[in-house]
Amino acid sequence: MALKSKFKNVKGTRDILPEEAVKWQRVENIIRKKMKQYNFQEIRFPTFESTDLFRKSTGESTDIVRKEMFTFKDMGNRSLTLKPEGTPSVVRMFLQHGLFNKGAIQKFYYIERMFRQERPQKGRYREFRQFGAEIIGSSSAETDGELVKSALDIFDELDIKGIKLNINSIGCPKCRKDFVKEFKGFLKGRLPELCEDCNRRYKENPMRILDCKKDKKKIKDAPLPSDFLCDECKKHFENFKNRLDFLNIKFNIDKHLVRGLDYYTKTVFEFVNSNLGSQNELGGGGRYDELIGFMGGESTPASGYAVGIDRLMLLLPEKEEKLSVDVYLVSLDSESDFVGSKLINSLREKGFSCDKDPMRRSIKAQFREADRQNARWVIIIGENERRKGIVQLKDMNKGEQKEVSMQIDKIVEELKC
Ligand code: AMP
Repeated sequence: MALKSKFKNVKGTRDILPEEAVKWQRVENIIRKKMKQYNFQEIRFPTFESTDLFRKSTGESTDIVRKEMFTFKDMGNRSLTLKPEGTPSVVRMFLQHGLFNKGAIQKFYYIERMFRQERPQKGRYREFRQFGAEIIGSSSAETDGELVKSALDIFDELDIKGIKLNINSIGCPKCRKDFVKEFKGFLKGRLPELCEDCNRRYKENPMRILDCKKDKKKIKDAPLPSDFLCDECKKHFENFKNRLDFLNIKFNIDKHLVRGLDYYTKTVFEFVNSNLGSQNELGGGGRYDELIGFMGGESTPASGYAVGIDRLMLLLPEKEEKLSVDVYLVSLDSESDFVGSKLINSLREKGFSCDKDPMRRSIKAQFREADRQNARWVIIIGENERRKGIVQLKDMNKGEQKEVSMQIDKIVEELKC
């Protein structure tokens, strides 16, 4: 039964209780393990950045910048924003710390919290977690394939089924010009039928109209970016598809896919899963060859993706993951408690998780606690045991109990059986 309190977590945020945190730990460990296998280096960045960073990089015309950022003023009247996505911070770090001097190609990953003022619902929160990977310095389509594969490997290892990969190419600024001209011509007479957002996008960044869920049907016959690709972009997309084939990755070409951020060029992709309901997108990414130059660096190709971990958790197959402790101490008197405390500290040094009742309540209460904590072993010490130089070691799985010498090495030997 929950207690009524006037304090509740803020709308759109989530508390992760111990039973749930065990699952998160497993997922995060797998992400880290896989990222290491692909030689991505971990980076961590601040919770807030200057607002301008996101305005410039995520893009003024995006929903994120227009209506979803948590922006506030600090005491020096500077405008700050809780990070809504990772790529701008990665690029800022790359430039600020001169990481371009460290090698032509750099691979980073992160596991970070993000903040967006969206209407909360299942799978959509105001504070959520993402893992992401970025490869800076490579223009090769092989890189895009490797990024996709690294995410799919993580889904696989987590035993998440039913993930579909959608891909597209939205071209470079050169071929985008021809597309936008044609697209605007197509839209002109239709603007009164389109939503307010699309009318604004028409002026600011028309391609993003293809991303509109409301107007999708009304523009289904529109010209599409992939019909206007220049030779180089066409070749790049062919290479990307070939790379996916080579990696045995199935994909679907979605010519309407443009993704919600301003900085993408050429490759875009997304992972979807129908079990997520209306928020069916698990992650996505693409190439951003222009962004680093645009942010003041030397023109440098780059590519990356982000996956929502909160949504990943919704797809995790049910698996019994209990909280547990290796050893729980039950002591029968204060002198035994003293001896037992020393023992469990030595066991902790040997790598076992151990606990005891700091209040040293009744034996029954101590056993009840050992049970509640799913202790694998219980060490029982009383006056008798101390006199004989032994402990009673109870195997809680088998329900068997035996006498073991009080020497730490002997106990460890038994625990390893
Ligand atoms: P984006 O950065 O918009 O490309 O989103 C990448 C992934 O982050 C999405 O596919 C979701 O899995 C996750 N995500 C984005 N926004 C939210 C949100 N408000 N709540 C939970 N997850 C989100």
